[in-house]
Amino acid sequence: MKIYYEKDVNIDVLKDKTIAVIGYGSQGSAQAQNMAESGLNVVVGLRKGGNSWQTALDDGMKVLTMEEAAEVADVIHILIPDEIQAQVYEKSIKPGLKEGNTLSFSHGYNIHYQYIIPPENVNVTMIAPKGPGSTVRGQYLDGFGVPGLVAVHQDYTGNAHQVALAMGQGSGLTRAGVLETTFKEETETDLFGEQAVLCGGVTELIKAGFQTLVEAGYQPEVAYFETCHEVKLIVDLIYKKGFAGMWHDVSNTAEFGGLTRRERVITEESRKEMKEILKEIQNGKFAKEWALENQAGNPQLKRMRAIEDDLEIEKQGKKLRKLCGLEK
Ligand code: NAD
Ligand code: MG
Ligand code: MG
Ligand code: MG
Ligand code: MG
Ligand code: MG
Repeated sequence: MKIYYEKDVNIDVLKDKTIAVIGYGSQGSAQAQNMAESGLNVVVGLRKGGNSWQTALDDGMKVLTMEEAAEVADVIHILIPDEIQAQVYEKSIKPGLKEGNTLSFSHGYNIHYQYIIPPENVNVTMIAPKGPGSTVRGQYLDGFGVPGLVAVHQDYTGNAHQVALAMGQGSGLTRAGVLETTFKEETETDLFGEQAVLCGGVTELIKAGFQTLVEAGYQPEVAYFETCHEVKLIVDLIYKKGFAGMWHDVSNTAEFGGLTRRERVITEESRKEMKEILKEIQNGKFAKEWALENQAGNPQLKRMRAIEDDLEIEKQGKKLRKLCGLEK
């Protein structure tokens, strides 16, 4: 495993270069501000009149249209939602892409699944923070950084790797360490993580636990604290000290009960499904499904969002977070 820190990076490869950050959402606003405060020459490329335009101006960023930003930039860093990148690339970015430019991403999706096929005479790189935008910004302001991944898909100029690392340096990622990966590995592991464990797995586990207690007649408020609120406390322990540190900090009763029961929750069947989910990511089945969903105007996503909003655990959560002062 290769890992890069500040000492391995020469940020001067970006001296006199202009970086266009396309998009000013979660990652765009964080990475653009971090890189600008690290002394890099950053412009933000947005749709004229879009919601982010004024926000970026208020943050002191130089704002251009996406077409203008792509035209003036040496590095074009695409930080808009993955599912619209291909159409925005064709219309607003490709025309401004010149020989020796760098096309940069924070997720390998569109390159890996070939929704974007860049010309051969540009670099294609990835610098991806392993954390949400708000953390990328918050850690940077605190003098730290979140860890990141770096990958080079196409090295036209011969220094594509240093260009990507210098951007990571600007965002604060090399303070924590940047791991070498490939577009394929980053894309497939990222999708698997968010589907099976982080976003999909965790919510379904919480939901199932909550519903089991409520259906058995326990108070929903008590069920919420036990199966949802406390998840963070346990995960924080695992994050800081590993499984061993968490087991140490909980009671012996919790340790014995957890170790003897956990495989009845995540069963052989669940593991088989995890392998199936991974296969659908690897063979492109998931990407195809997501592309069709977008073409159709997101009917499934809208329906599932409505169902999710209507869950009892969400209603309880909203009420209890307010009472605890966690949410306004
Ligand atoms: P986001 O959803 O926060 O981006 C929204 C922004 O994109 C808007 O503010 C706007 O500026 C722009 N935008 C939206 N629709 C547009 C359109 N039709 N045309 C032009 N611009 C439009 O995106 P994000 O979550 O920051 O993701 C950006 C990239 O970073 C993705 O490749 C994503 O996979 C990657 N990434 C995200 C995270 C994360 O935590 N959010 C973490 C790692 C990597
Ligand atoms: Mg979202
Ligand atoms: Mg991820
Ligand atoms: Mg992701
Ligand atoms: Mg307990
Ligand atoms: Mg213990």
